[in-house]
Amino acid sequence: SLGVFLRELFTIYRGDMLTPLPMQYADFAAEQRRSVDGPQLQEQLRYWKERLAGELPVLDLATDHPRPARQTFAGAAHRFRVSAALTDGIRRIGRAEDATLFMVLVAAFKTVLCRYSGQQELVIGTAIAGRLHRESAGLIGPFINTLALRTNLSGDPTFTEVLRRVREVALGAYAHQDLPFEQLVSVLRPPRDLSRTPVFQAMCIQQTPVLPSLSTPGLTLRQLPLDRGASQFDLTLIVTESDGGVDAVFEYNTDLFDATTLTGMSEALLRLLEDVTSHPEWPISSLAVMSPGTSDRLLREFNQTTSSYPNDHSLHQLFEAQVIRTPKQIAVTCGEDTITYEALDAWANQVALELRQHGVGPDLRIAVQLERSVELIACLLAVLKAGGAYVPIDCACPPKRRDFILDDADVRVLVSRQAGEGGERGVPVLVPHGRPDGASLEQPRRATRSSGENAARQLAYVIYTSGSTGQPKGVLIEHRSVVNLIWAMRPILEIGEGDALLAVTSVAFDIAALEIFLPLLVGGTVVLAAESVTRDGGALAAALDGSQVRAMQATPATWRMLVNSGWEGRPGLVALCGGEAMSAGLADALSTRTAALWNVYGPTETTIWSTAGRMTRGQSQVTIGRPLANTRLYIVDRHHQPVPRGAVGELAIGGDGVARGYLNRPALTNAAFLSNIAIGGQQEDRLFLTGDRARYLEDGSVVLLGRFDDQVKINGYRIELGEIETTLGRHPHIREAAVVVRAGAGGERVLVAYYVPADTMSLAPNALRDYLRGVLPACMVPTRYVPLERLPLTTSGKVDRQTLPEPGAVPIDTGGVPRTPTEITLASIYAEVLGLDRVGVEDNFFELGGGSLQIIEIIARCRSHELTVLPEHFFEYQTIATLAEYLARDGRTAVLAGA
Ligand code: AMP
Ligand code: MG
Repeated sequence: SLGVFLRELFTIYRGDMLTPLPMQYADFAAEQRRSVDGPQLQEQLRYWKERLAGELPVLDLATDHPRPARQTFAGAAHRFRVSAALTDGIRRIGRAEDATLFMVLVAAFKTVLCRYSGQQELVIGTAIAGRLHRESAGLIGPFINTLALRTNLSGDPTFTEVLRRVREVALGAYAHQDLPFEQLVSVLRPPRDLSRTPVFQAMCIQQTPVLPSLSTPGLTLRQLPLDRGASQFDLTLIVTESDGGVDAVFEYNTDLFDATTLTGMSEALLRLLEDVTSHPEWPISSLAVMSPGTSDRLLREFNQTTSSYPNDHSLHQLFEAQVIRTPKQIAVTCGEDTITYEALDAWANQVALELRQHGVGPDLRIAVQLERSVELIACLLAVLKAGGAYVPIDCACPPKRRDFILDDADVRVLVSRQAGEGGERGVPVLVPHGRPDGASLEQPRRATRSSGENAARQLAYVIYTSGSTGQPKGVLIEHRSVVNLIWAMRPILEIGEGDALLAVTSVAFDIAALEIFLPLLVGGTVVLAAESVTRDGGALAAALDGSQVRAMQATPATWRMLVNSGWEGRPGLVALCGGEAMSAGLADALSTRTAALWNVYGPTETTIWSTAGRMTRGQSQVTIGRPLANTRLYIVDRHHQPVPRGAVGELAIGGDGVARGYLNRPALTNAAFLSNIAIGGQQEDRLFLTGDRARYLEDGSVVLLGRFDDQVKINGYRIELGEIETTLGRHPHIREAAVVVRAGAGGERVLVAYYVPADTMSLAPNALRDYLRGVLPACMVPTRYVPLERLPLTTSGKVDRQTLPEPGAVPIDTGGVPRTPTEITLASIYAEVLGLDRVGVEDNFFELGGGSLQIIEIIARCRSHELTVLPEHFFEYQTIATLAEYLARDGRTAVLAGA
């Protein structure tokens, strides 16, 4: 219309006459309205319904800011240019497939969206001029129509193949362009959500240059780039051919994205187009989407972590060296009990000798199940000194699970206070004799096996973590990995000779190794908090304030408990928080209460922690920071290719912390640990795939965004829902089960189990709970149990966790019949406006075919009933029941006359 308008302006300016119009816009509108019911549009409707059938994918690009509940359409534009030379190249690719330049650009845009989002099914919109008839050429009015281009990029096709798919879809769309998009939407009734546009969330538009060759003496016309400051969609790519190249604009929603992300995306598009001109036959997963500079920054610069550490020493060798430096220093305190370095060393030597009598040697496993005590530390050191690897078992571990571990780890000796408790296989039990007296302190230190060339490559510990297939799995960690981590953490924890660290973690977790061995390798003191103290905020606060504690490491749940107990902080304290996502609120609370707060992250498989990020007050985003020493991070897609900066991928970790693998689980090990792999040209011997969804920020720090699988964390405990489900499924009276995490009454996270009984035997929830308690650690035992006739399934046949009912939600069968005066009024208005006989109060307005026109109509009718309804209410309250409830609550309901 702008072109028409300008042409007319110039004509009049020149003093010429306008030619009379053959028709008016009203004629066009009437014509369009007439054809709506005609066979041609009905055919088009059929086409579109088929094309857009089934669940429409929702574009899921990682955003720089959380998506607001309601779109504000605030936007900005990022301009870039496809050079004439590059445009020539892609035109050539297009010609070979009989495709237009625009189709190549759409194919490239979709490929970029696929590489950014990891989604293979994508719908993007495009606009079409719509002036199909010559008579309409001179009319001013809205002819433009919107078309939805849905393509599937699954199977890692070549770019040429993507182009073919786009071409086919585009040609089909052009051939069915007459059906007005609004009408299509009203028929499709896509689910409505105020935070997103329906059907598609990104567009690609070709603009013809508006001002072709208009000039007249005394009047020149120049087009200036104008930022509307608005964006109708999440993202729109607008392309205009000019001077042999393409002027491109990314119009983007500024609620969601930062400018740097769009700069990266335009770079990705250009890089991809370049790669496409030389390799149109490469699978799209292998096409470049980063400039060499960006890729270098992500893969190399952010990973420059090489740092030296005693990589040929074992933990106990380093401890023994410290004993010589600070023999009289306090090594461990636990309650009233304290021990010096030399006494601890002697004690450990004595136990080590006994262990060696059991034939303990390199890589052999020794389980340790002891209360938190000085003795526990002495025994852990003893296992290492004897040359073995310790397998820590929590004292609260159910016997059945402990026996499984003893068996699975092929444990040589169990160190425990319970004589005779050696499991079914009869593992010999070593009951420690307690602290040796002064005389035995003279024991020769060299009685232990602490030398050997490969000391650093021997196993230090085996930690069991939840397994999705129903059995926990042992992670094999070597000495050098722990030593590396300790050296990396020393500058962060700021523990030196004489400094105390308050240790609160159960030894069954790998992070306890940091609490114990870091102080012991530097002459510091391990202040071992009693079990009861670690579970009581007030007691913990007292422990922190009472002793000269310099640092503490804990999960967010423990820190939260401490803050909630009224702890006011400790000015000199270094706080490590990790194991589970830290909320922004907790980050704020802790950073004001401590000298330094670090968010630390790492799976057991990469040794305790792999990243650390310093949190400061009022930080806009909680990040896990950057990789620790000798640790490298990669954020990769399903093809193990690095994703562009800003996109979400799976976090993969390489470096000296990577575990040897899982004990006796070659298949699991091969699936989770990649060997000899090149990531974007960076060679890695071993890489662990974490399953964590992650994204790089501009400065190289990493943000975590949940999981790719069903692993959850509750109070720092790593739980595979599959393990609980499998365990439930083994119960004789249960056919199948599903377990989910839900918010409990106080907002805490709780496990809820859904099960299908195998027979008519009724199962008391208590019986189920007791059954699980006998096999699983307490943290894995669900709090709620809901019997179901069957589990809901997704279209792909998996259990649909989303649709599992809220436990305890009492089903109220209203039959959808309106009950209150407001509901009755609304129901009759809805029915009239939507042309239906009856509308139930639970029916969804949009599913009934409601749209913006109906909204306006209903608002007008409500007004005459003295009900004030606003357009957004229809999105927020999609049923009459919820809308009426809102109106009642908000007091805007005028009492109906006579009601
Ligand atoms: P675990 O093996 O018990 O250490 O559990 C490792 C998993 O815990 C990781 O893969 C993450 O999913 C989660 N995790 C650990 N630390 C953090 C953290 N600081 N922020 C968010 N998630 C974390
Ligand atoms: Mg960890």
